[in-house]
Amino acid sequence: MLILNGFMGTGKSTVGRRVAQRLGVPFHDLDDVVVATDGRPVARIFAEDGEHAFRAQERTHLERLLDGPPAQVLAVGGGALLDRALRRDVLRRATVVTLTAAPETIAARTAGPGRPLLDAAPDRLERIRSLLEARSDAYAEAHAVVPTDRLTAAAVTDAVLAVAAQDRITVPLGARSYAVRFTEGDLGAVAEAVTALRPSMAFVLTDETVHDLWGRPLAEALAAAGITPRATVVVPPGEQHKRLSTVERALTAMVEAGADRDAVVIGHGGGVVTDMAGFTAALLLRGVRWVGVPTTLLSMVDASVGGKTGVDLGPAKNAAGAFHQPSAVVVDVAHLRTESPRGLASGMAEVVKSAALGDPDLFALLEEAGHAAPLAAVVRRSVAVKAAIVARDERESGERALLNLGHTVGHALEAEGGYARLTHGEAVALGMVAALRIGVALGVTDPGLATRVTHLLANLGLPVDLDAQPLDAALPLVGLDKKRRGGSIRFVLLRAIGEAILRPIAPEAIAGWLAPSS
Ligand code: NAD
Repeated sequence: MLILNGFMGTGKSTVGRRVAQRLGVPFHDLDDVVVATDGRPVARIFAEDGEHAFRAQERTHLERLLDGPPAQVLAVGGGALLDRALRRDVLRRATVVTLTAAPETIAARTAGPGRPLLDAAPDRLERIRSLLEARSDAYAEAHAVVPTDRLTAAAVTDAVLAVAAQDRITVPLGARSYAVRFTEGDLGAVAEAVTALRPSMAFVLTDETVHDLWGRPLAEALAAAGITPRATVVVPPGEQHKRLSTVERALTAMVEAGADRDAVVIGHGGGVVTDMAGFTAALLLRGVRWVGVPTTLLSMVDASVGGKTGVDLGPAKNAAGAFHQPSAVVVDVAHLRTESPRGLASGMAEVVKSAALGDPDLFALLEEAGHAAPLAAVVRRSVAVKAAIVARDERESGERALLNLGHTVGHALEAEGGYARLTHGEAVALGMVAALRIGVALGVTDPGLATRVTHLLANLGLPVDLDAQPLDAALPLVGLDKKRRGGSIRFVLLRAIGEAILRPIAPEAIAGWLAPSS
């Protein structure tokens, strides 16, 4: 279902009707549905029963329509999606486009009576401003936001139709919300995402391998939209270069090229590049916007979404960083055609993690189809798991820590190998095996579940032989990463597919649990 949200006077009904007509699907106006069922105009329901009763009616009809056929267009009243839990549910089940307009435009378009929230206000414009302010987070949480001030209804209709034709998942975080757009072989989507931000200039941060393979198609797509990057910073590939010195190089190049606060940094590469692009954007002039264009399976399903950015310090993984959400992410799965089999398998480790944490159907699909599972669907479903967790806990004060499943021992193994012996995904796979073993030892994980997950990882080409790893050298490094709290670390254990828990444990205890059983 396509839902048009936004303040009154932004054109939701007019545009919604046109969009529905163009798509050849039914159109509903939620206010009209409520009025038709209740028998009283909106203003009278407000006056006689209060706003709360009106919202309850809205909600009942909204939920009924969402349960109906997906091919429908619905314009909702400006207050219909203010409830956070309801809005987040709607964002998962429908495509939501917010239409916006300046307060003055809205005042002019809503001048007549019959607007219960405005009619009693002594200063209508002031009332509109304060309502917009109070609702800004709710309106920002959408698959797309279309400003309508200078556009005709026909042009707004075209913009909404364009979004409706795209595949997007939104990461709803109030003013920091953004969409992840999925494409295949269409880097024009990157240009569209950048253009929508109306930046003063664009920078590209990429690595040598990605630049050689995909730099030209990206540059051509940007050029076709009139975007010439002010600088393209090409760094050496690999985790060894995820360092402050590399970020400093990028910052210097951007400042020397005349960066200002309205610049946008495009991070085009794997997780190493998107982590550094986001961190560079967080630091540049105290913060500019960035767009993630992940090119590995791992960065598509995990690193580019969620706003964790940073670099490694010594053996401590991601020890310097910032939360800095991207303004858009464009996942073009065509990039995966050139990724190495080892890289793809590595990405599968994070896919298995996401499936184990939050998508039992995806887990079953991977068990059944293995490598033959359709990658585009696998990527999309994994991003949905991550987006939902991040939306509930952006700053990792609780649930988001579950995404560290396999990462505590994994990071230690990765660091022990000098970030060269194992890829990040391989280390995470071994770390998951460790977490399963510890879960079994603590009576949290059923041994059958541990075997099932381990088999899946092995089937996908990932290392699972923990006993063959240099644990003596690696385990002292556990807890050097940022997940330590006081003397213990919050360890993620798997109780069932779709159910993980956090357990505080002392790092010193891990070696005993991981000792080979035979
Ligand atoms: P990576 O960025 O080093 O990429 C792996 C290799 O693949 C590199 O040599 C790269 O040049 C090459 N490559 C990239 N795209 C390619 C393509 N399309 N075709 C051919 N080669 C290509 O590593 P990664 O596995 O993508 O990411 C791992 C990093 O992600 C780690 O640093 C990890 O900490 C980070 N990460 C971050 C988060 C987060 O939430 N921020 C989550 C998970 C992982």
